[in-house]
Amino acid sequence: MIIRKSAAEIEKIARAGKVVRGCLDALRAAVAPGVATRDLDRLAEDYIRSHGGVPTFKGYRGFPGSICTSPNDMVVHGIPGVTRLKEGDILGLDVGVTLEDFIADAAITVPVGEIGEGAGELLRVTEESLYKGIERCRAGNRVGDISHAVQEHVEAHGYSVVRSLVGHGVGRSMHEDPQVPNFGPSGKGPRLSVGVVLAIEPMINMGGYDVEVGADGWSIYTKDGSLSGHFEHTVAVTENGPRILTVD
Ligand code: MG
Repeated sequence: MIIRKSAAEIEKIARAGKVVRGCLDALRAAVAPGVATRDLDRLAEDYIRSHGGVPTFKGYRGFPGSICTSPNDMVVHGIPGVTRLKEGDILGLDVGVTLEDFIADAAITVPVGEIGEGAGELLRVTEESLYKGIERCRAGNRVGDISHAVQEHVEAHGYSVVRSLVGHGVGRSMHEDPQVPNFGPSGKGPRLSVGVVLAIEPMINMGGYDVEVGADGWSIYTKDGSLSGHFEHTVAVTENGPRILTVD
């Protein structure tokens, strides 16, 4: 069941989203060769709590980190740890914040120092595909319209869309209905209406779309070892079209 949000509830999600964005900006600025991902986790937790929020991921089904840090061929759900970033890595950063009982969720993938042309292109196309999806986030459209817009853009550039992980509704819970796949036909799936709030999050591989779970039971890797990008925003369907809530 899709839980539509009132205008006041959407404002609460936007306040959580502002903290998510500030946290992601601080993380982006801190990313550099030699930095350990657990240092980023500490920075994020301090930032979120000092802005009155709670890191939503911490303790979620036992997840030990405050954020997810997913380098290179890791798609999502990386546990921050002693791993140090290296020049030329790419790093997925996923942040969820709970504030006033509502949750906002967003992700970016950032370069560590100078990265190769191919990796840069993957990040550019993945982020573009997120905005293609957001553009379809309108009352009267269907979830499949978002999915199709993402897939079409990604595959036109020769990349692949992860199948087994999807975006989601978000509100008082981090994962609400509907699921928002990043692939599939337009014109299908649940109908969007004013008050629907979605976390849209393309996970895009340079090689094939198959993924596998790492030894820690959390991290998800590309099966073929190719690089993977991830960008995410929390978006509300409003009378005036899509409103991105994870912004300043
Ligand atoms: Mg999400």
